[in-house]
Amino acid sequence: MLLKIVTPERVVVETEVESFVGKTVDGMIGIQSRHIPLVTPLAIGIMSYTQNGKKYPLAVMGGMLSTDGKQVTVLSDAAELSREIDTVRANRAKERAEAELRQLTDRREIALAQESLTRALTRLKLANGKG
Ligand code: ATP
Repeated sequence: MLLKIVTPERVVVETEVESFVGKTVDGMIGIQSRHIPLVTPLAIGIMSYTQNGKKYPLAVMGGMLSTDGKQVTVLSDAAELSREIDTVRANRAKERAEAELRQLTDRREIALAQESLTRALTRLKLANGKG
């Protein structure tokens, strides 16, 4: 099964895999070859693919997943493999979001800061090997 993970900036992954585990708003979903055709929104979180029996975790910042049973395509604003994470940047983003959350009162702004915090925490979790 071909896995393609694409962002507006780059192709993050394009490779043959045995399976892909994605995080949807309803929970984790495992996809293998011959999965029924599916399109589903993704949550922000750690997902993974398995290749030659080895699991490769990555951080995916939401988006959409589609599969036709032969290929899985993930379209997301951003996605990074563990070794690509800049932890200093993620820590800064975390602190910025936490400071914003202490001050903001507008619901929409609070929701955006919460998403930003979730992205930073997901990156830090992956970088700390907890994928
Ligand atoms: P920041 O506030 O640090 O920009 P962000 O969550 O707003 O973080 P995104 O909008 O999710 O960043 O991503 C913008 C681009 O920067 C994407 O290409 C993403 O892969 C990359 N990126 C963001 N944070 C990191 C990080 N900590 N390590 C590596 N790449 C990152």
